[in-house]
Amino acid sequence: MQEKGSISIHTENIFPIIKKFLYSDNEIFLRELVSNAVDAVKKIQRLAAMGQYSGSVGEPQVNISFDADKKTITISDNGLGMTAEEIKKYINQIAFSGAEEFVEKFKDAKDANELIGKFGLGFYSAFMVADQVEIQTLSYQEGAEPAHWVCDGSTEFEIREGSRTERGTEIILHINKDSEEFLDKYKLQGILDKYCKFLPVPIRFGTKPHYESFDEAQDDNGESFDDAHDDKKPKGKTVEVDNIINETNPIWTKTPTELKDEDYLAFYRELYPMSEDPLFWIHLNVDYPFNLTGVLYFPKVKNEFELQRNKIKLFSRQVFITDEVKDIVPEFLMLLHGVIDSPDIPLNVSRSFLQADSNVKKINSYISRKVADKLADLYKQDRKAYEEKWQDIGLFVKYGMISEDKFYDKAKDFALLTNTKKEHYTLGEYKEKVAALQTDKDGTAVYIYTNDPDKHDSFIQSANRKGYDVLLMNSPIDSHFVHTLERKLEKTSLKRVDADVVDKLITKDDNIPSVLTEDETKKLKEIFEKAIHRPNMKVEIEGLSPDELPVTVTMDEFMRRMKDMAQLGGGNMGFYGAIPDSYKVAINGNHKLVSRILKAGDEAQQTQLAKQAFDLAMISQGMLTGADLTEFVNRSIELI
Ligand code: ADP
Ligand code: MG
Repeated sequence: MQEKGSISIHTENIFPIIKKFLYSDNEIFLRELVSNAVDAVKKIQRLAAMGQYSGSVGEPQVNISFDADKKTITISDNGLGMTAEEIKKYINQIAFSGAEEFVEKFKDAKDANELIGKFGLGFYSAFMVADQVEIQTLSYQEGAEPAHWVCDGSTEFEIREGSRTERGTEIILHINKDSEEFLDKYKLQGILDKYCKFLPVPIRFGTKPHYESFDEAQDDNGESFDDAHDDKKPKGKTVEVDNIINETNPIWTKTPTELKDEDYLAFYRELYPMSEDPLFWIHLNVDYPFNLTGVLYFPKVKNEFELQRNKIKLFSRQVFITDEVKDIVPEFLMLLHGVIDSPDIPLNVSRSFLQADSNVKKINSYISRKVADKLADLYKQDRKAYEEKWQDIGLFVKYGMISEDKFYDKAKDFALLTNTKKEHYTLGEYKEKVAALQTDKDGTAVYIYTNDPDKHDSFIQSANRKGYDVLLMNSPIDSHFVHTLERKLEKTSLKRVDADVVDKLITKDDNIPSVLTEDETKKLKEIFEKAIHRPNMKVEIEGLSPDELPVTVTMDEFMRRMKDMAQLGGGNMGFYGAIPDSYKVAINGNHKLVSRILKAGDEAQQTQLAKQAFDLAMISQGMLTGADLTEFVNRSIELI
């Protein structure tokens, strides 16, 4: 029996196109062929389970080997095999509707995945690396004849009687000149490690081109094929038992009740050997309206610079697809680690597919909801432990609240605010805590915060003396979080502690009167204006409590935020970037130093004292530098 035929596409040179175009990720040929082999094994198991195959299934096997001299890579399986008819049906009739459409579309395709996915080219990815591909196969069907298919990458193929005596399929790739790099143990191992590490059927990898037959009698006792790791040894002649390179039952395929913390941690360490242990994890498991399993870990991150995206691995039926999970996982959860597996996401995902797919959208919100539920649980179960982890968890929670309204609505009950005394409050608790003292004359609650407790120490002390609480907002994400809180909380505004002198931070009716006369106020203003003499600093004489500092330099909250925004926006925000720094220099008219300045002997002395008081204010905020600092030191020495 021998037959020649033509693969049903009408463009002669389609394979050179595929080959050339897909060059950059041509390693996925192995993923495609190994997953076909795994599918074939699964299918025979299923047929046997349904009573449609009465022979012995045997120990499930997928073997990968290569021969550097013959320049071949072989993928073999003891799956269901194919008849010659089936080869013609499944292999020869490439699943795309026409060559014209293919040529039309391949121009826009971004990557091999997209192309393979669109046109069902899984098997044909072999031609990315091979000049010639052979199939030796024997179907499970009764009376089936072995078949041998050969194709050299043109549209011509040959099919004849095969030599295979065991049920299953062997794909032999004759590697082309450009792809000889794949004839290397480490190269292949690396690819298998990446894509095949968690496949559900044992994968063996070695240098022998063929595996020998196993004595199948041992399976007649009806043992489960999932127990593939037992000590059954193949019987045969010179069989080298190659290492099984995969873990067939990774934790995400198990139910949470089967697993201990140690199992989750061990899996984490396996995935991310260099990382610290995670804070906690979430086991995802849903089968309606879509099918999804997985484990997501909250990594321990000390600062945002360590944050790494693309640490979540996406699988489809245990075949690794990608670690770019954008679109599947909500943006703010991209910082999580772990594994997601969904057969509803096709093996060959492409960006455009994901964005349009409704399952993907559902998966996205499912994950977001699960994460929120888990956090709510942790909070309810053990508030103290939760508070201890807040430093790390807070990052995710805040990020989520900033970027997703739905998540905000859930998180508002377990998000914590931390003050400079390191006390934690929920949003509700905090509102109550500060209501009495920190509500202004219009009924707006004013939350005071610092992003730099060391630098703002004198302001914080002043605020605390007045009974005001100061929130710690010192991580980079907090500047955004401040905006979110302001947007979401009713009648609440946030002010940085140095936005004004403490008596003005929260506008109330009970203004402290100044002890100075109008003339004295005018005079004092002149003295300070002359002494400071900086165009971006506006002197104001204010009636503050006598125990407040004599001079305070502040920048208005609104102004400062504009500047912060300009800094974040970099060069793109030329307009904001052009805003000069502008400060208020508040002189406490009720302070005794101030009355001393007024009463000082001559003008020179007045200026000197005013300068000194101003410089001290600047120093306490770390704003005095360069020549100004030198001048201050010299003046101080003189005064002493
Ligand atoms: P897909 O896997 O998406 O169906 P492929 O191009 O990878 O597309 O494979 C085409 C078909 O060829 C498969 O559906 C299967 O019927 C058949 N096939 C490929 N490899 C094997 C194999 N190792 N054993 C049995 N059948 C196979
Ligand atoms: Mg396939």
